[in-house]
This record gives sequence, structure tokens and C-alpha cells, in this order.
Amino acid sequence: MEININNKSISSLKEPGAPIIIVTLPEIAEAILNACKEYGIEVAGCCDNETRKLDDLYCGVKVYHTPSLPKYFPKARLIIAYHNLQESAEQLSALGYDEFYSPLELLKNYDVKKYQHRVTQLFMETRIAVTNKSHESYFDKSITYLRSLDVQITTKCSLKCQSCSNLMQYYTSAKNTDTEILKSIEILADNVDDISEYRVIGGEPLMNKDWANIVNGIIEKDIKRKVFVFTNGTIKPKDEQLESFHGKDVNFYITDYGNLSRNIDVTEESLKKYNISYFRKPADNWVDCSGIKKHNRTAKENEIVFNECCAKQLYTLLSGKLFSCPFIANAVELNAIPNNRFDYVDLHSNAPDLKQKIERLVNMKSFFPACDYCVGRPKDPTTAKVYDGKGMIEPGIQAPKPISYKEFI
Ligand code: SF4
Ligand code: SF4
Repeated sequence: MEININNKSISSLKEPGAPIIIVTLPEIAEAILNACKEYGIEVAGCCDNETRKLDDLYCGVKVYHTPSLPKYFPKARLIIAYHNLQESAEQLSALGYDEFYSPLELLKNYDVKKYQHRVTQLFMETRIAVTNKSHESYFDKSITYLRSLDVQITTKCSLKCQSCSNLMQYYTSAKNTDTEILKSIEILADNVDDISEYRVIGGEPLMNKDWANIVNGIIEKDIKRKVFVFTNGTIKPKDEQLESFHGKDVNFYITDYGNLSRNIDVTEESLKKYNISYFRKPADNWVDCSGIKKHNRTAKENEIVFNECCAKQLYTLLSGKLFSCPFIANAVELNAIPNNRFDYVDLHSNAPDLKQKIERLVNMKSFFPACDYCVGRPKDPTTAKVYDGKGMIEPGIQAPKPISYKEFI
């Protein structure tokens, strides 16, 4: 069935009709709710695939589990807050819905300063800008667009979570990426239309002593770039490093591992001191997805795994190659899967058709050969059709030593 998503929403949603539901709860869902109130649009509820979000009201509104939504609302008008419109609409369409809206118009004149949000105002501004860009690109099929790029600057981590989805638990000789990574970023940026956010990640990116230079190097090429540094709160950034981000769109995303995040409070204080936007979030809701083994699935089964995967557009840059997800990036880096040129694009290959190769990877609709080695990474493991992992797991359990695996050399 063809999916139709409306980018003009206000006049239709103000009309009487089926109940209005906000789909998924990223930070911007709060702004969408506020905007609906401003326009006199009554929201009946929200829905999300993550069961942990069902316990409480969200900004005073009831949250439903997406797969169960038809039980409560056989008909609904759905405003998709999730950055990937197509992915959300496909799931909802399979549940029998056909009336979808992007919040683009609702958020067009949204004044962040008028409201107090659950995240900092700066963070909300950035999230809205990124989601808007992502939705605009959906309506403009002519562009090659990356909502985010994970710039993996190290495979070292100060923690060793045994179920790390980025596979850090397998590294025996973890190492930093040098500033050459900036060259790879520019090759990629020259061959796509837009990258909304650069996510500097590891392992723990602050393990790489060059991390702040890399962040500044990304922005040096274009002051409008947005950078998010993903940290686990174990290492406090130095004052001079934070000071060097003044006037730049640098944001922090801090995962709170409780006692393991031993420097999280001082990090938060420093970020406040330098007026750097951040979001602190507990490490929770982990879906087991870190096993590596050949499954010998049929093409149809791998297609289902890929379609159900919530990480397939976490484009990752590692060792000069572009990957569709962190699993493939690190499995290749570890030689834990056979080297297959269809799994990535080598940005330094000087291939005359580099742009087309990148487009193919970004617009992949079936699956990558590496997906057969992955247990799958569904949003909701309880409803996944093909998934070989353990389901929801306790986050942040530490591995006493690196986990062994079969190497392909
Ligand atoms: S903190 Fe844990 S989950 Fe995060 S990168 Fe390190 S090992 Fe992986
Ligand atoms: S290997 Fe395939 S299924 Fe696994 S995380 Fe990557 S894209 Fe998703």
C-alpha cells in the first residue's frame, strides 16, 4: 500500500476527525504537544515502541504501546515525531492506519523560549532543527541526506559493557583514530547534500586526547555544523577544551551509568559553566544486539531483520570507511565478519563512482551481507518477527576481560 504523509498538518488537524496521536517520544514530542495546544489541536495520546515509556504520563498525556494502539484507537490521525518518517509510517500502516502527518508545519514558528522543556532550551532548538531537516529531506527525494553521522574517533572505552551495541567488549587492542578522520569527513560531506549532525563517539570519545581538536576541526570547515559528543560521564572534559567551543553548536549527550559514571556531576557542572547544551540520560532500555555469528538466514529473513532494525541509518565513519550502522563498522574493524565490499564504502578509494556508491549505501532498502552475522536490533524485541538476541537486558554490566570471537583473516 502506498504511504502518504502530509507535510501540511494544521488545518486538517483542527478539523473534527479521528483522535490525534503523537508517534514516538523523542525530545521534540514535547514541543509538538505545546504547538498543538497553541493551535487548538487536541491530542488524545502518544505512542512509543519502548515499553519503559508507558509507565508514566508524558507531559500529562497517556502513552500507549505502538503495537497495541489499534486496540484503543481503531482510527487515528498520527503526527510522527520520529526523525524517520518512512520507518514510522510503515510500522503504523501495517497496523492498519493511513493518515500520517509530519510536524513540520506545527514546528515552523515554534518559539522554544516561550516554554520550559524537559531538556535545555539549546538542546531543544538543535533537536527541532535536526528533525525538521530530516523531514524536509523526506519530501525532497532528489537529495542524499544523512540525518546523522557517527564519527568514531576511538575504539577505546573507559567502561567495558559486556553487551555494548558498538562491540567495544571485543577489542583487545583498542586504538584512537587520528585527525585524518577529518579528511574522511570532508570527502563524505563533498559527496552528499547534507549531514544534519555529527555525533562524535567511541567507545568513550574523551579517551582520545585529540577529541576536542577533532570537534573543532569538524566545525572549522563549516560553522553551521552541529556536533554531539556522546560520553559516559567517566572523564571530565578540561575547561580549555570546553572554552574552545564558545560560539559553536557543540552539544553533549551524557549516558548515566550510575556509580560507573564517576565524573558525571562535575562534567554537568562544567557544561553549565560554559553554557554548552547537554542531555543527561540514564543507561536504560537496552536490547541485546551485540552477538556476532553467522545465521545463514534466507534473503527474505535478512530483509525482515534489516527492516525491523532501528540502527540501520546510524551511518558510521571508522577507519576511512562509511558504514550503515555501528555493528557493521566495528565487526569489520575487528575482522569478526568476512570483508565484503558491499558492506561499506571506502571513502579513500578514489573510485570515480564514489558518489553513487554512497547514495546506494544511504538508500539501502534490502539488507547488507553483514546483517546475516547480526542478531538484529529491533526497536521492540517482543514483537520482532526475526531476531536472535536475548531481548531486553540489564544495561552497563561490565565484562571482566575482552570477549573472544572468531576472526576472519
Ligand atoms: S560505555 Fe559501554 S556501551 Fe558505551 S561505548 Fe563504552 S562499552 Fe560501549
Ligand atoms: S547489521 Fe544490519 S540488522 Fe544489524 S544493526 Fe546493522 S543494519 Fe541493523
